[in-house]
Amino acid sequence: MTGPDLVVHAERAVLGDGEQPATVSVADGVITDVRPLDLSVTGAEVVELDDDEVLLPGLVDTHVHVNEPGRTEWEGFATATRAAAAGGVTTILDMPLNSRPPTLDPAALAVKRAAAAGKCAVDVGFWGGAVPANLGSLGPLLDAGVFGVKSFLADSGVQEFPPLSSADLLRACEELTAHDGLLLVHAEDPGELSAAPDAGGPSYAEFLASRPPSSEIAAVSTVLDAARRTGVRVHIVHLSSADALPILAQARADGVRVSVETCPHYLVLRAEDVPDGATDHKCCPPVRDDANRDALWAGLADGTIDMVVSDHSPCTPALKALDTGDFGAAWGGISSLQLGLPLVWTEARRRGHDLIDVVRWMSHAPAGFAGLTTKGAVRAGAAADLVVVAPDAEMVVDPAALHHRHAVTPYAGARLTGVVRRTWLAGAPVTPDRAVPQAAGRLLSRGEA
Ligand SMILES: [Zn+2]
Repeated sequence: MTGPDLVVHAERAVLGDGEQPATVSVADGVITDVRPLDLSVTGAEVVELDDDEVLLPGLVDTHVHVNEPGRTEWEGFATATRAAAAGGVTTILDMPLNSRPPTLDPAALAVKRAAAAGKCAVDVGFWGGAVPANLGSLGPLLDAGVFGVKSFLADSGVQEFPPLSSADLLRACEELTAHDGLLLVHAEDPGELSAAPDAGGPSYAEFLASRPPSSEIAAVSTVLDAARRTGVRVHIVHLSSADALPILAQARADGVRVSVETCPHYLVLRAEDVPDGATDHKCCPPVRDDANRDALWAGLADGTIDMVVSDHSPCTPALKALDTGDFGAAWGGISSLQLGLPLVWTEARRRGHDLIDVVRWMSHAPAGFAGLTTKGAVRAGAAADLVVVAPDAEMVVDPAALHHRHAVTPYAGARLTGVVRRTWLAGAPVTPDRAVPQAAGRLLSRGEA
């Protein structure tokens, strides 16, 4: 029997629910042993972390729009996964829309997988979609390996991915229940949106008023009602309005199978700080005010919100309408795959949270939610997806240092705390600036991961 391929000695490692000194051994891409720090353990490669570094499990980002094929000029598998690796994210799940074809049937999934093959720096899995036209055919899509299906109740922004009506939603839930499937929903209600004033022009206040909290509350209520009636597992993506937290907490207390995510931009940015015309801040639902941000943090602290994922949703710089600053015309989406950890950690630390909390929100919980049983923890038997972060080191966001296809970011110049120093995927280094293989990522399927 040969020794480990890699041994990592860490004075500080986030393991399970705690942080402690540890020695982690890796063979064939899997963690084979985790023990109290023991410098006598050796292997083919031995890494001893610096005093200012902490070992974490790789982050799992279950909300990424890669857009390839079909809108590869917006983002692609090579660039997105390189950004992920640089940011300490070792697994991403790709959203079913904005690529063409959208991931609505097994053939489209095969097209996506072919587009991704050989290009990915980290592991990649796929969500499918539920639209009116593929209801009745969700079972084969799940069987083909998607981790669940996503749907909209309001306009998705692209015509090839139309929303479900309330009746359609119920049909989708019934179908998914029969297949033990998971339904992700973009929770904005079309009636509430059309009742709100239209947004055009550079005023952020007007844009905010066009997508009110009531639209999130109404949509969440619709989804919870469908979940109560069918028993299906549902997940609310990118919750922005904290006003929906009480009904989510109540539903969970009632036994409804619901999980909730929010995103770095809702936890870091504030409407009060968004300049008029700053369409690089546009996302849907929108970034809301400071009191709402505080309430989202409270939702994370009390567990009503389970996880933080990026909703990395790029487009070409032209589509962000930065020249006109027109919030009505700009594509909604913020790209933060590479920056999620320092963004969330900077704000979390200021609010008295520790790295254990951040690992729970950004690694453990999303892995569990997606059924990625070998991810999200540093423990024997898990995938050797590991990240080294220097939690007290500072960085200033330099758009030129982002590996995303386009460097448009509302975070340019932001001073953040927490620098990702190394990332390993299945025991192999994938940190982009270390001149290592860039295509080590595997394509994951539901039930095999
Ligand atoms: Zn999204």
